[in-house]
Amino acid sequence: MEAMPQEFSDFSVAELPSEQEGEVIGPDDPGYDEARQVVFKGFDRRPAAVVRAAGAEDVSRIVSLARENGLELSVRSGGHSRAGYGTSEGGIVIDLSGMRAVDIDADAKTAWVETGITAAEYTNATSEHGLVTGLGDAGSVGIGGITLAGGIGFLVRKHGLTMDDLLAAELVTADGGLVRTSEESEPDLFWAIRGGEGNFGVATRFQLRLHAISEIVGGMLILPATPEVITGFVEAAEAAPEELSTIANVMIAPPMPFVPEEAHGKPIVVSQMAYVGPPDQGEAAIAPLRALAEPLADMVRPMRYPELYEGPEPEAQFAAGTNFFADSLEPAGAEAILEQLPLSTAMMKAVQLRVLGGALARVPDDATAFAHRGRRLFMNVAAMYADPGEKETHEAWVAGLAGDLSDGGSGGYVGFHGEADEATVRAAYPGPTWDRLREIKRRYDPDNLFRLNHNIPPS
Ligand SMILES: Cc1cc2nc3c(=O)[nH]c(=O)nc-3n(C[C@H](O)[C@H](O)[C@H](O)COP(=O)(O)OP(=O)(O)OC[C@H]3O[C@@H](n4cnc5c(N)ncnc54)[C@H](O)[C@@H]3O)c2cc1C
Repeated sequence: MEAMPQEFSDFSVAELPSEQEGEVIGPDDPGYDEARQVVFKGFDRRPAAVVRAAGAEDVSRIVSLARENGLELSVRSGGHSRAGYGTSEGGIVIDLSGMRAVDIDADAKTAWVETGITAAEYTNATSEHGLVTGLGDAGSVGIGGITLAGGIGFLVRKHGLTMDDLLAAELVTADGGLVRTSEESEPDLFWAIRGGEGNFGVATRFQLRLHAISEIVGGMLILPATPEVITGFVEAAEAAPEELSTIANVMIAPPMPFVPEEAHGKPIVVSQMAYVGPPDQGEAAIAPLRALAEPLADMVRPMRYPELYEGPEPEAQFAAGTNFFADSLEPAGAEAILEQLPLSTAMMKAVQLRVLGGALARVPDDATAFAHRGRRLFMNVAAMYADPGEKETHEAWVAGLAGDLSDGGSGGYVGFHGEADEATVRAAYPGPTWDRLREIKRRYDPDNLFRLNHNIPPS
């Protein structure tokens, strides 16, 4: 019989297994208010306990305890879920941020890494050996979340998604068991976790492939935004060799010190990029982007790869956003962006454009649970705001602009989704992917213990 969910008041930290090694933080503990927070605002939830797991055994005990007591279970690595899945009202949070060990085999170009480490910390550690795994654009994002969602980042065209470099994973499954999965061992589970997020268990360690990359040509290039520059950027980034991956944000220029004052308040394209290869070839690859308009700021230069993570990150506020995959951006779409950006009253609003292709596209759609391999462009419309009372306004703006842009676009990337209904989650898993995920979910988590995520209901 399924256990009845306990009320928050029913469960106390005293009921946690005494052999727990990691720190346990309950409502009466001094660090509780900090421990229950996640990165984005708007999730003022009060878990019964936050457990900073020290290892897989801790995780296993908490998973079993949550299952046996019918407690809501939240799993957090870096805490960047825009849906606030890293905290819980009355449930129990497994916080993996204490689990950050990295064990590098430089000769084999692989690393075993605990999932609570951040992208920047992991990259700094592997870079000491001149080796990296491609991750996203924010150094503070957790390896756990980004790898299980996919990982569209600085090496996406050269080496594919982060999860394309996943060689094996250790997971605590819903029965509390510790499983090692790879192409050879429990291959269905390995297929499902590559894109299926935390639906199948708590990942405690990953084995990731490393690439020999030390120096790159990379950094930030800011251009004035016109329809021609925006569509030209997409075309040039697509025509560039796959050694170059770019992330472009069309936005209204904030008063940044390195942007000329006359551009403040005007539309700009803020792009970040990485070229993997000799500097002269990198300069040549980037030249067509620089030629689109007189740059407002050009900080693209030869650098060490981990320098990509050295800049400040914007403070996360309340966020509205929607994302989808497409094959092109038509001039009318670029015009819609420029018309609608000034209409938003959000403190920060942007349309992010990521040109795909290259190594990402060479993996077959059915090889992993990420089945958008053939799409050429990923777009994310986002608005950040400080007043929660404005939620509807900003969500309506995001939906309106996304509607104008998504002609021919479809699907979505769970890594960028906030709270999403079943239809939205389903759209992220097109074709036979959804049914296969549901079947694997039935085998590994029939009671849907792992449901604080973009949930795949068991079939
Ligand atoms: C500023 C910013 C920049 C970003 N840039 C990029 C980018 O460039 N490319 C990209 O692909 N994504 C990007 N993302 C999205 C990011 O990859 C996802 O939000 C990711 O899920 C965050 O992982 P986390 O561990 O930090 O978050 P968490 O909130 O800890 O986890 C996110 C989800 O994954 C689950 N989860 C986390 N760890 C585990 C685990 N070990 N085992 C099982 N389930 C787990 C959680 O339960 C939750 O459902 C960005 C997000 C932000 C906020």
